[in-house]
Amino acid sequence: MKKTIRNALDDGIKLLRDNKVIDAQIDANMLLEQILQMDKVNIIINGNKEITEHKYISYMRLINIRAKGKPLQYITGYQEFMGLPFKVNNNVLIPRQDTEILVLEAIKCIKENNITNILEIGSGSGCIPISICNECENVRATSVDISIEAISVAKQNAVTNKVDDRISFIQSNLFEKVDNINNFELFISNPPYIKRNEIVSLMREVKDYEPIGALDGGEDGLYFYKQISKKVKELTNEKSYIFYEVGHDQSEEVKEILEYYGYTNINISKDLAGINRVVSGTMYK
Ligand code: GLN
Repeated sequence: MKKTIRNALDDGIKLLRDNKVIDAQIDANMLLEQILQMDKVNIIINGNKEITEHKYISYMRLINIRAKGKPLQYITGYQEFMGLPFKVNNNVLIPRQDTEILVLEAIKCIKENNITNILEIGSGSGCIPISICNECENVRATSVDISIEAISVAKQNAVTNKVDDRISFIQSNLFEKVDNINNFELFISNPPYIKRNEIVSLMREVKDYEPIGALDGGEDGLYFYKQISKKVKELTNEKSYIFYEVGHDQSEEVKEILEYYGYTNINISKDLAGINRVVSGTMYK
């Protein structure tokens, strides 16, 4: 039986809804856009046109993958962040809109203090240093990740976004392979922060598909905040700024960690949903 583009879209939405995909309509549209290489408006305008059997089958194959729980971004291989395009695959966390708040707060500090040298811990897709370098032309960044697969994705994203001449990505367990830590003026991280025993209760899209190493923050979810805060204190002897993204209920605990290690000017910023999302502080020497 012949199918129109509209029929295909409706079949896709129905299958996603039947499988409890939250944004069924958006996701079905995005996958059809990918298969037909058409934007949303053209899909509507051409709704009554026939879709070839081959394209219909390819489309429903992607719909079935999404219906089983694979995040849309790992199927399309793409996520936008701070208005820039990022390639993603299952070796990197999908950049979240919440993280834009972290980036914006850091950019404010960079501009106010003429900061030129920053270190990011946990590159993932590279979205944080890439979007900072894109906004601040005098900044050079170093970014570390323990995962060589993540580093490979982040490097490609730096090239796509034309900031690869100002970012070095290093495979390193935290600070192990980083020289001259003292030269960095600002440290930034969106570390893994989920409590280990809570990972099983996350959405299937996250727990079954996103890299566990990007999620697991140890027993209390605070392992990386403690490690990074301690190391920055120990390894620097100039004034340093520190910026963290935190889990929805972690801002007070992370503030206490920073206070414990002697950071001052501690500031907490909210995300668009009104949740405390960014904790920052300053280490004076
Ligand atoms: N920096 C990356 C991001 O914010 C990766 C973070 C992570 O893997 N925890 O998306």
